[in-house]
Amino acid sequence: MSPDVLQDRFGRRIDYLRLSVTDRCDMRCSYCMPEGFSDYEEPQDWLSFAEIERVVAAFARLGTSRFRITGGEPLLRRNLSQLAANLNRLPGVHDLSLSTNGTQLARHAAALKAAGVSRLNVSLDSLCAERVLDITRRDALAQIQDGLLVAQSCGFAPIKINMVVMGGVNEDEVDNMAEYCFRHGFVLRLIETMPMGNTGRNAGYVDLQPIRQRLQARFGLVDGVVRGGGPARYLVSPDGDFSIGFITPLSQHFCETCNRVRLSVEGTLYLCLGQEHQFALRPLLRAGISDAELDAAIRSAIELKPERHEFREQPGKIIRVMSKTGG
Ligand code: SAM
Ligand code: SF4
Repeated sequence: MSPDVLQDRFGRRIDYLRLSVTDRCDMRCSYCMPEGFSDYEEPQDWLSFAEIERVVAAFARLGTSRFRITGGEPLLRRNLSQLAANLNRLPGVHDLSLSTNGTQLARHAAALKAAGVSRLNVSLDSLCAERVLDITRRDALAQIQDGLLVAQSCGFAPIKINMVVMGGVNEDEVDNMAEYCFRHGFVLRLIETMPMGNTGRNAGYVDLQPIRQRLQARFGLVDGVVRGGGPARYLVSPDGDFSIGFITPLSQHFCETCNRVRLSVEGTLYLCLGQEHQFALRPLLRAGISDAELDAAIRSAIELKPERHEFREQPGKIIRVMSKTGG
């Protein structure tokens, strides 16, 4: 491996950076943000677009080629497609994707596509309007579905639907959601709740392994691989037309192949979702460090990446909610 490639102490190559461009959101998903949440970063502490671009350029110099814009709800950050276009032009950026809750997608899909965003993940936990309202505290199902259709018509394909499966909330909708995704050509990804903050801990964890076995038998699926699949393990239909991914950080963790780190809106690198290891880049950026010093700082940060999360062993450890880290 070239000495320029970022590698952690456990021999894992870090080639994926998730960028949170805001910690704010127009939803309050029960497993993510507490209902009255207002503990936001101050705007003067947000990395500017120029600062984000500098960090992305540095990661790209160090061999990271895949970047995902996330949040909070990234489409709330003003002029986001301008940022996407700027990032996409940087040398070494080969794959730029976005995660969104879909509420603003219809308005932004065309501009995001034109800016070079290549892949979209959209969160959708239910196809029942009342449940969407209960889960997200926003009556947004119609808006999200509209956003999905507009994004498809703009050429995003395949769009991935992220569904967090919760006991007693939407567990009974998994098959309906699979059929909906199959009909529309979406890739479905089922996610186990992670114990991040009290919201994550109280969300009704469900082990996805039995659901996986049931769906495999029902739809005649086989093990497969999907582009940009990340930690998800996929089942695909024999003709390859339909896939379901399973993100199972608790029932079958994937830490040994973890290839990613996260940059929060205020410029802190989080080395693991389930640990506190972090490295603040903003003070260095604002102190005027050189590109070589920035590269060295990123290498030092990667040295801090822990071997694995301890969601099972220490479920009470992480008080940070997902929207803060950039899930
Ligand atoms: N707002 C965007 C969205 O909802 O897609 C992007 C940010 S959101 C934090 C990214 C992903 O994290 C979503 O798919 C969401 O379902 C997931 N998520 C948030 N809290 C979670 C938790 N406690 N356990 C598992 N997934 C969680
Ligand atoms: Fe907002 Fe996404 Fe968190 Fe839901 S999961 S509250 S949409 S950041």
